[in-house]
Amino acid sequence: MSKIIAINSGSSSLKFTLYQMPEEIVLTSGQAERIGLERGVFTISVKGKKISTEVDIPNHKKAIELMLDGLVKYHIVSDISEITAAGHRIVQGGIYYSDSVKATDEVVERIEEVSDLAPLHNPAHLVCFKAFKEVLPSIEHVFVFDTAFHQTMGPESYIYPLPYEWYKEHAIRKYGAHGTSHKYVSQRTAELMDKKCEDVNIITMHLGNGASISAVKGGRCINTSMGLTPLGGIMMGTRCGDIDPSIVIYMMKKYGYSAEEMDTYLNKKSGMLGVSGISSDSRDVSNAAKEGNERALLTNAIYTNRIINTVGGYYCQLGHVDALAFTAGIGEHSAETREDILKGLQEALGLSIDYELNKSVHGECLISKPDSRIAVYVVPTNEELAIVRDTIEVLGL
Ligand code: ADP
Repeated sequence: MSKIIAINSGSSSLKFTLYQMPEEIVLTSGQAERIGLERGVFTISVKGKKISTEVDIPNHKKAIELMLDGLVKYHIVSDISEITAAGHRIVQGGIYYSDSVKATDEVVERIEEVSDLAPLHNPAHLVCFKAFKEVLPSIEHVFVFDTAFHQTMGPESYIYPLPYEWYKEHAIRKYGAHGTSHKYVSQRTAELMDKKCEDVNIITMHLGNGASISAVKGGRCINTSMGLTPLGGIMMGTRCGDIDPSIVIYMMKKYGYSAEEMDTYLNKKSGMLGVSGISSDSRDVSNAAKEGNERALLTNAIYTNRIINTVGGYYCQLGHVDALAFTAGIGEHSAETREDILKGLQEALGLSIDYELNKSVHGECLISKPDSRIAVYVVPTNEELAIVRDTIEVLGL
């Protein structure tokens, strides 16, 4: 029996989940928020109840200390030496990693090298990893990359029609993201179908604040919608997804926007928020749509249309599809969005959906009828579990 902790750190936050393995029992989870800002908040779950404390968290080292102290203080472990290993989510692994790896100095150097591609995330992951090592030097660490699952794509999927030298000299290509989620959900979908993942082709739709779609052929990703960075692909909460690149040039010339300003428009002021002018949260947009708000209705129509286009393309690229799987905040919880998407796809893909069942989904659920040409599932993602499973595997525990 071992206790493995999954760590997901951002520039100002650190989320953790402690598992007892191999039983896959969650012992606790929690987070440190507002790291480096005024009035930090540390939250830990104790016997199903969340306990939040306002406390200054000047840096990630302090966040790690709070986490380890909390585990002992609330009797989740009797001593921090009970923690066997840690698995860290790393957003960008570049071309180097197609699987999770043990954290060595060489790996750390490579992650630093590709930090330009994830400037908000990779440096924060490393700060957190180094702080953890300092506070608890005895345990092993594993890095689990968001990009790894997508490394099986062929060049026809990952090379952009740009000067080839940009790819060779600057590593400009599609890397994708949410790989841990797409891998977990595609594997779980195969299990629910009682099939081996090698024997099925699945299109996974991770529809959260950030959103991406992957085409998974026999367990291997052959295309994904996010690109060089998570800005590419389908429409998201605040990100635009794929657009005509000349729009960027046009607006920069016309209004003299700097690169930073343009980056803010595309990453933070576009997507559902940009079109609706209401919110980046799909619930707010849907509520406004129900009241007949034109821009909210338009937002939902664009959102659905972009997903249909991507799924349709991946359907053709896969040649044959056994299942579609919805996951993440919107994919798991918004019956309306699923219905809009499925109604758009059903004729072309031969889907037969139980729309009543779709309205009452909780957790894992098959929402297509037996006569559907393609099975359709809702599968809650579990990136933390995927991280600790990989940690165990990599370390041979
Ligand atoms: P993140 O990318 O931040 O992890 P999530 O996977 O939590 O995002 O998804 C956030 C999105 O999920 C938001 O747009 C939110 O409106 C939507 N969402 C969450 N819960 C529900 C719900 N019960 N019904 C409809 N939409 C939901």
